[in-house]
Amino acid sequence: MGVYAVTGAASGMGRAVAEKLTAEGHRVIGVDIQETDIVADLSTAAGRRQAIDSVLEAADGRLDGAVLAAGLGPVRDRARLPVIAAVNYLGVVDLLEGWRPALAATGAARVVAFGSNSSTTVPMVQNRTVKAFLAGDPARAVRTVRIFGAQAAPFVYAASKIAVSRWVRRHAVRPEWAGAGIRLNVIAPGAILTPLLERQLATPAEAKAVEAFPVPTGNFGKPEHIADWVYMMLSPSAEFLCGSVLFVDGGTDAHFRPNDW
Ligand code: NAD
Repeated sequence: MGVYAVTGAASGMGRAVAEKLTAEGHRVIGVDIQETDIVADLSTAAGRRQAIDSVLEAADGRLDGAVLAAGLGPVRDRARLPVIAAVNYLGVVDLLEGWRPALAATGAARVVAFGSNSSTTVPMVQNRTVKAFLAGDPARAVRTVRIFGAQAAPFVYAASKIAVSRWVRRHAVRPEWAGAGIRLNVIAPGAILTPLLERQLATPAEAKAVEAFPVPTGNFGKPEHIADWVYMMLSPSAEFLCGSVLFVDGGTDAHFRPNDW
């Protein structure tokens, strides 16, 4: 049975993944700003350092896998944009860089980072916003969306998820990741009924946008269904899955981009 680090383990999909892994007999080291094994604020450099070191210590330097689910939605509050940007991007890539030696130590580790179908369905995301993230500068990414004023949050959110997906695809194929037996992949959920989506549905302006969003299957997804896909991506069967972005979104991405493949 394996040892897995799971961020965002206190709520929603991260929690569902942690519960699934535990039910299957694995050991989970949860990381979250809310009550879990390791309480750390991933929006700050000190919090990310603490999360990296505490997990390495708890796992005794060996990880069979990691799931990076901590994240914030596109909350329409300009003061929160730097926090959304830092958690959604650095809360994934800094932790993965820090945990890489422990993932390499087991020789066959599996990593699933949470992207989003916002990465393909939000129009007009600027390339310079994504580039700022990939340069490791979420604060600059936030400055690039100031032109959108009060409507800036979805652009920061989508850009953070594009950047995470690109980071994973760029690194997945490198010798220090693929060559060390580590499989890096992204899951891109659509609208999943978690506390994050519930908060959006409780805000009238955001609820309107969420409800108008086409979901061909006609329903919101469930956290447990996403956890089952993540579990598969962590399994030995995922040996040949490398740098993939898996959309599990009730058909929204296919609806908007039927001809992209
Ligand atoms: P959620 O709000 O239920 O869970 C997110 C978790 O992240 C929470 O436990 C929260 O405490 C933690 N978190 C937030 N800020 C943090 C910080 N500063 N430091 C440490 N932990 C922090 O949300 P969810 O819907 O389960 O989202 C999980 C992931 O899936 C996120 O990355 C989100 O962007 C992504 N996602 C969600 C949806 C959706 O519809 N729910 C769709 C696409 C992608």
